Amino acid sequence: MTTPLTVFACGACGHADFPRRLLCPVCGMDTFHEVEAGEGHVEEMTVVRHRAGGGDADEGGALATVHTVAGPRVIARLDVSARRGDRVALTIEANGAIVARHTDSP
Ligand SMILES: [Zn+2]
Repeated sequence: MTTPLTVFACGACGHADFPRRLLCPVCGMDTFHEVEAGEGHVEEMTVVRHRAGGGDADEGGALATVHTVAGPRVIARLDVSARRGDRVALTIEANGAIVARHTDSP
């Protein structure tokens, strides 16, 4: 099961962050509401050939820094064919992994 990634927006000033913080780094308030991060753009990528402890089934992949439309940057798994600047959709898998996938929109 996958669900769209949500980030946390400050209830006072609207500053969005991920993961959730105890206090807003901008205004210091402690109330947040969830905002769907939706999509973002790939800023940086690192190809991971083998993760420590991944075992034989671990085929590696890429980790990307994605600048979300909502504001925060998140680290997500990404197909190695992706390129910097690509537009991706962000979801959370059942195991908690954040995954970025290409979208069809330009
Ligand atoms: Zn704030």
